Amino acid sequence: MKAAVIKSPYEVEIVEKGLPEIKEGEALISVKMCGICGSDLHVYRGKHPFVKEPRVPGHEFSGVVAEGDIYSRGEAVTVEPLIPCDKCDLCIRGEYNVCRNLKVIGIHVDGAMAEYVKVPEDRIYRLPKGVSFKEGALIEPLAVAVHIVRRAKVSLNDDVLILGAGPIGLLVLQVAKLLGVKRIFITDVVDYRLDLAEKLGADYTINASVDNVEEVVYKATNGLGVDIAIEAAGAPNTPLQAVKLTKPHGRVVIVGFFEEPRVPMDMTEIVAKELEIVGSRVYWHDFKTAIDLVTRRVINVKRIVTHSFPLEDVAKAFEVADKKLYNAVKVLVLIS
Ligand SMILES: [Zn+2]
Ligand SMILES: [Zn+2]
Repeated sequence: MKAAVIKSPYEVEIVEKGLPEIKEGEALISVKMCGICGSDLHVYRGKHPFVKEPRVPGHEFSGVVAEGDIYSRGEAVTVEPLIPCDKCDLCIRGEYNVCRNLKVIGIHVDGAMAEYVKVPEDRIYRLPKGVSFKEGALIEPLAVAVHIVRRAKVSLNDDVLILGAGPIGLLVLQVAKLLGVKRIFITDVVDYRLDLAEKLGADYTINASVDNVEEVVYKATNGLGVDIAIEAAGAPNTPLQAVKLTKPHGRVVIVGFFEEPRVPMDMTEIVAKELEIVGSRVYWHDFKTAIDLVTRRVINVKRIVTHSFPLEDVAKAFEVADKKLYNAVKVLVLIS
């Protein structure tokens, strides 16, 4: 089979590989589409702490079952790309997203940017009728957004600040709106992403490289700040900004991937305002919700897709996604 392999930083190639061999409890998926995620880009840049190249990336994907026990050949599916150990204290409590030995397909083991990928059968989800392979490849990032919004405990009439208008920020925006928030403020340093955020219903779009984020938020909230801040940028200054702009007893959710994980923080703000600071990691029982939201047509995941490339052009696909060329947001690779 053909597979895309990240060989070394900024070097992606198509190679010929043998079919993955499946064991009991595993299935072989013939991949249709696979998205490039921010974490794939960290691998691409050689900045991912858990990945040793060469690695076949890809964990946001759809396809059809090629071989397995539970599912029939040809069934359209997507896959929650987690391989928990099922043995540690957290797995025993069912909290598999924070498994102490968690492996992620495309990060710790070879992923779906290939004609075939092997997956644990119990992580497979059928795509309901009417849900396309394109949408199927976007269930994973939507599940990330659903989990974030749950961790944030977003509720009716909240003012929500989203720092970062990348694919995750834009999906969080859509999910939060469904819950009847009052206003959404979203920041980024790239105008076309903010334009898209506005089209998707953001009330305030703030270019942090041009405008003063604090001024805009304080002015709109009469100096009170927001109920919830979601840090989805992974930039050095955004966690501090999130803490500063959240009102007392508010909640800050950290989801960005920090290439430099140590950032400045103001502990006095956290104590004095009794802020809740929580992290959000992948998803935990959120895939079903994500699939339902797409099936019910209340979230339009396709709006964040700007580019698609065939597998042969995977090097170009990574370059476009990494450098945000041609106003790229979500880039998909079409496999078969
Ligand atoms: Zn991802
Ligand atoms: Zn475990």
